[in-house]
Amino acid sequence: MTHSYKLVRSRRKSIALTLSLRDGTLTVRAPLRVPLSALERFVDERQAWIETRQKQIRADIESSQRNYDEGEYFRYLGSEYPLVHVDESRKALSFDGEKFVLFRGSRWRAKRLFADWYSSQAKRILTDRTTLFSETWRIPHARIHVRDMKSRWGSCRRDGALSFNVRLVLSPLPVLDSVVAHELAHIVHRDHSPQFWKFASTLCPEIRHHGAWLKKNGHLLVW
Ligand SMILES: [Zn+2]
Repeated sequence: MTHSYKLVRSRRKSIALTLSLRDGTLTVRAPLRVPLSALERFVDERQAWIETRQKQIRADIESSQRNYDEGEYFRYLGSEYPLVHVDESRKALSFDGEKFVLFRGSRWRAKRLFADWYSSQAKRILTDRTTLFSETWRIPHARIHVRDMKSRWGSCRRDGALSFNVRLVLSPLPVLDSVVAHELAHIVHRDHSPQFWKFASTLCPEIRHHGAWLKKNGHLLVW
């Protein structure tokens, strides 16, 4: 049986499968010298899991399509809040702690308005959390960037500059915190070695659990 996937070879030590949370496509990451037949077998043995997961991702993507209708729910820090339309409002989009309020006349640009709202919340919250943890753990960092990243939740540059995915602000705060811990831990350990994980787990004991949550639910963090 042949499978459809993107193959990325590198100096890694083991084979890993990743499914894109945007469209469910499969990427196989493999060491340089593993023969194709072995890769095919590896994928073959996991075909049932791949198909189940792809179906689930595609169904989730379908159900998270937005029209910005009244009554649709939007995530923020792990909770979901309904959207309400109003005919008069000073702001095009606002959040009152219980619901999102959209000025009806601005509905055509609702996606952009949500993007801007999430972006400003993400900048504030991720900067606050990073500053708090960096002071508590005495790990100095450089600049913080918050962006809409395609495939990562965070990254750490050699100079200590940290980047975070804006969509983290839709996840529960402990999950967001675990990504902050992960990137701060990279300032001390640049790789994903056992030492890195040991250190990262002292900063955030639940880091693996939160990572698994993101893997499972990351594609639902959309607006
Ligand atoms: Zn990492």
